[in-house]
Amino acid sequence: MIETQHLSKLYSRGLYALQDLSLTVEKGEFVFLTGPSGAGKSTLLRLLLVQERPTEGELFVNGHDLTRLSRSDVQEYRRGLGFIFQDFKLIPTRTVFENVAFVLEVLGVPPGQQRRRAFQVLKWVGLQHRINAYPRDLSGGEQQRIAIARALVNDPALVLADEPTGNLDPDLSLEIMNLLREVNAGGTTVVVATHDR
Ligand code: ADP
Repeated sequence: MIETQHLSKLYSRGLYALQDLSLTVEKGEFVFLTGPSGAGKSTLLRLLLVQERPTEGELFVNGHDLTRLSRSDVQEYRRGLGFIFQDFKLIPTRTVFENVAFVLEVLGVPPGQQRRRAFQVLKWVGLQHRINAYPRDLSGGEQQRIAIARALVNDPALVLADEPTGNLDPDLSLEIMNLLREVNAGGTTVVVATHDR
């Protein structure tokens, strides 16, 4: 699913955030990227999301050569990914339901199908009763469950999560990790960056 060869990323101020990283993640694996703050975990996720490009080396995801993707290919490539952030990144002016269905709307999925699929994933994270709430009405754990529903609504082959439990207490963190484990049990490859060993 993911293969890097001698991958390096040098930001402008001259320090390597990643240096000579070679790794393989097989389809269906659940992988943790661990290490202290500054180790380069977010950088690797940003490279995988093509928010940044490598300075050197090779990077392949699901058959895509990420060093060579054009801008339109990047859009297409990202449609096969789910991404979960530490700070949830929900749209504050949209309801829970709209935050999730929006992904499908952008992809041109017909409205009836959007509703069915969004409801299905919201039910799966146990928040079908909050579909008309706004993110500000929800706890941190609930917001992260919505973010997971959003990441999964398009049935991605690969889910990337950057410190998904960073803003949550231990019980809620466990709940979120259990959801990700379920996602993985369904065959989805999951990569989680965390400093929380
Ligand atoms: P982690 O996620 O493990 O905390 P990061 O990937 O965020 O690590 O950062 C790795 C290194 O790259 C750090 O030294 C950080 O300061 C540096 N870095 C991260 N992003 C940038 C950037 N946009 N510009 C310059 N340096 C950066």
